[in-house]
Amino acid sequence: MHISLGTALRSRVAQRLFILFLLAALVPAAGLALIAYQQVSDTLINLNYRHLQQEARNIGMKLVQRLSWREEILQLQFATPAKNDRKKQVDLDDLLQHNKEFRSLDIVKPKSFVTLSSEQLGHLRKSKVLMQLTPNGDVVMTVAIEGSFDYLQAQLAMESLWKDENEGENYCILTQAGQPLYCSAGMPVPALEHWSDNTQSQRNSGVFAWQVNGEDHLAAFWHIPLQSSLAHDGLVVVVSDTRANVLAVLVRFRQIFPAIAILAMAMAAWFAIGQIRRQMLPLDRLEQHTKLLALGNFTSRVEVEGDDEFARLADSFNGMSDNLNHKFRLLEALGELDRAILSVTEMDSVIRLMLSHQPATVPCDYAGVLRYDSEGNILFWTIDAKQLVVESVHLSAQNRTVFPCMEGEELWLELDLTVRATQDLAFLTRQGMTRALIFPATVDKRIDSALVLAYRQTPQETKDIVQTGRSLADRLAAAAVSISWGDKLFRQGHFDALTDLPNRTLLRDRVEQALLRAERENLAVAVLIIDLDNFKDVNDYLGHAAGDALLVSCARQLTKLARQTDTVARLGGDEFILLMPDLPPAGAAAIVDRIASDLNTAIALPVDLGTRNISAPASIGIALYPENGKDIHELMKNADAAMYESKRERYGGYRFYSEQMNVEIKSHFEMIQNLRNAWDKKEFFLVYQPKIEAVTGHVIGAEALIRWASPRFGLVSPAQFIPLIEEIGLGCRLGEWVIETACAQMAAWDAQGCPPIPVSVNASPAQFRSNEIITQVRAALSRNTLAATRLELEILESTAVGDSMCINETLTELRNMEIGIALDDFGTGYSSLVYLTQLPANILKIDRGFITEMLTDQRKQAIIGQIISLANVLKFQVIAEGVEEVGQVRMLTEMGCDIFQGYFFSKPLEPEAFVRFQKETEAKLVLSPANRQA
Ligand code: C2E
Ligand code: CA
Ligand code: CA
Repeated sequence: MHISLGTALRSRVAQRLFILFLLAALVPAAGLALIAYQQVSDTLINLNYRHLQQEARNIGMKLVQRLSWREEILQLQFATPAKNDRKKQVDLDDLLQHNKEFRSLDIVKPKSFVTLSSEQLGHLRKSKVLMQLTPNGDVVMTVAIEGSFDYLQAQLAMESLWKDENEGENYCILTQAGQPLYCSAGMPVPALEHWSDNTQSQRNSGVFAWQVNGEDHLAAFWHIPLQSSLAHDGLVVVVSDTRANVLAVLVRFRQIFPAIAILAMAMAAWFAIGQIRRQMLPLDRLEQHTKLLALGNFTSRVEVEGDDEFARLADSFNGMSDNLNHKFRLLEALGELDRAILSVTEMDSVIRLMLSHQPATVPCDYAGVLRYDSEGNILFWTIDAKQLVVESVHLSAQNRTVFPCMEGEELWLELDLTVRATQDLAFLTRQGMTRALIFPATVDKRIDSALVLAYRQTPQETKDIVQTGRSLADRLAAAAVSISWGDKLFRQGHFDALTDLPNRTLLRDRVEQALLRAERENLAVAVLIIDLDNFKDVNDYLGHAAGDALLVSCARQLTKLARQTDTVARLGGDEFILLMPDLPPAGAAAIVDRIASDLNTAIALPVDLGTRNISAPASIGIALYPENGKDIHELMKNADAAMYESKRERYGGYRFYSEQMNVEIKSHFEMIQNLRNAWDKKEFFLVYQPKIEAVTGHVIGAEALIRWASPRFGLVSPAQFIPLIEEIGLGCRLGEWVIETACAQMAAWDAQGCPPIPVSVNASPAQFRSNEIITQVRAALSRNTLAATRLELEILESTAVGDSMCINETLTELRNMEIGIALDDFGTGYSSLVYLTQLPANILKIDRGFITEMLTDQRKQAIIGQIISLANVLKFQVIAEGVEEVGQVRMLTEMGCDIFQGYFFSKPLEPEAFVRFQKETEAKLVLSPANRQA
């Protein structure tokens, strides 16, 4: 793969590397060049200084020589004594002509030397030459003429004195005071401070840098000593050169350096790009493959030549992508398995799916699943060209120990297939396998199946194999659990847990099938709804365990009596269905009639609940296909209506559905609907039926009876609507209202000054169930400031006799409060008279049924006699209700009955009518003959 420069430099890493390369080349080169330049220029300057110094000295020395030469001429000509004592006679003109060094020669008298210092004079006297400078810069030499008192004064020719034709340097000759005597052409006069500051004046020579017209100059100076020879305080030579001249050689360097630098950079760049390309190529490939990997392409491979880190990285990368590829496929397979586990209903499908992924998910040469079948044989499943092949394996007794994991809880087991002990797995050896790894799938501590992975050669690395094998085996276990849960759920979804009978769902299936068949084959079908009559009471008073036992017993009776082809189902609660399919159309009703009657009898048989036997009758409603309905809904609805009717008529019977029933059922539900609103609309009121004392004829009490004035149904009897109120769960609320209203009425009567008689109210069983009655009673009494003895509660004998501790306790507490407790409808319940001794009650109300028939039925008469005498013994007050005839009054009085209640005296009356009745009765009593006798 080629990588272009542009591509190479687009990468940030590449850019960084490139810049680093350039810096690495440039920084040292530049540094080096700078230092070298500095060094060279310093050296050049130093060298030049030394050269200038040398030059200054040379020029100075030459000047000294020229001066000495002139001094010597003068001394020789004038100050030296003539040989052989001859007076020296010098021709000045001739001398002047021969010596171009002098411009003029003059003989002067001593008087013109008054300005000379004594030192100078001394010098002259020693016949030495004295040098002086005139103000305009001319040099004058003076010498004493030998043998005379005169002096010779020579003015020097200046050009030949200062100038040295051989000198190329720029120099100046100055006096010590800085007065320039001569400067070569173009040489400016250096200022005194450059060379004669305090420190340098002590030295003969030195160097300095100065500026002329903004240009840097280097200079050296030298003091020419003339004191001893010419008695002059000396001259100074200053030699100078421009700095630019000195450093001229460096100009080349400066010109060449950028070129070299550029060259170095270019080379560095070239190297950098080369290197970057080499490094970026594998990096680029790695990056591209990483992107592919991220997109889910696990099969692409990175190729990097060489054996450097990049090549190793590429190898690792390829390894990682292989690994991911494997893991990914494994995950896919596991995911597919997981989805399958949730949906399959058979283990075969899971095993097929799992094996079809081999060996992609876990490396192996041969894979299979061992599994117990329903008979307990071990079967071995393998996959062959996508077909599931099953072999049965007969584990020898010996081999059960070779398969400890098939019995125990090991997570996996490695088997050597070459040993004799494993010959039961011969089919693996036949395939050329030598090793097997076995992973059991355990469900509820029992081996359900096992994954077998077999190998021709022992695999080197088993860690991954074991891990994957384990997770596959776990899925086998999960599938097994899921399937068994599926079965369980099916049972849960289709069968009733308590009775194990089919539930509504399964029943619907069966009914639909039966109807289809019936339609096809012209048959009849019967649907019977069986509903226990007192189930609620049993549950409430005897507890749920008793209720459950009753339901189970009922289910048993139904199943016993049902035909083979019938379905008995439980719809929930105490409602059962008997589905009778395939009935002959003509005789269907007769068959069903017999069965229903048998069912009534069987269900009503006493059931042993451990502590006691109870008999709980059931009411049955029957609907027939095709007469009473064409589909399941219609049939069920009509059977239900028939059952309701049957129950209303009497407990423990059965009814076939008739058209009329539906009308009644409809009004039943309408009534319930109206009842719910009756409270808010204040449609209830109480009437009071007087109770008459047998002996005196006084009104000694009243029973409060509820009435419902319904705008829709007119005045409805409580016998009709109270069961409905109980049915919709408002019994307790109604009870509270009655107690409160009756108490309020008593308080009102008291306020009117009526005799304070007690009033009894009928208590609903629901009030005892929730145990709220005590609170209700207390509240009503205290709100109306009534004594507890004014209130009596009438409870059905059957309610009181229910052996729930709760009711007994409640009644005892009410009795302790001195509330009167009357057992209503006494004689109709299940209780034997013996129970009376145990009940916390003080009044008996003999059921109207006995009273009505007492004059005609000897047995009823006898029972009443028994009840009254027992009640007298037990100190119960006895009330006879439903007294309509004078004969009944007489007979009951003879039997010792205490109190009468009935139409013979009065119907239940509204409060005002009650007060009137009371007054009239009292008035009659006052006038009656019996009273007058008294
Ligand atoms: P019960 O408690 O046995 O009430 C006596 C019933 O017999 C009353 O019927 C009354 O009017 C009727 N009766 C009284 N004397 C005679 C008679 O000489 N001949 C005939 N044929 N009947 C007579 P009612 O008022 O229709 O009440 C029926 C039942 O409704 C009551 O029977 C009682 O169980 C229930 N009930 C009435 N009021 C209430 C109430 O406020 N709360 C509750 N929970 N139940 C009530
Ligand atoms: Ca009553
Ligand atoms: Ca009664």
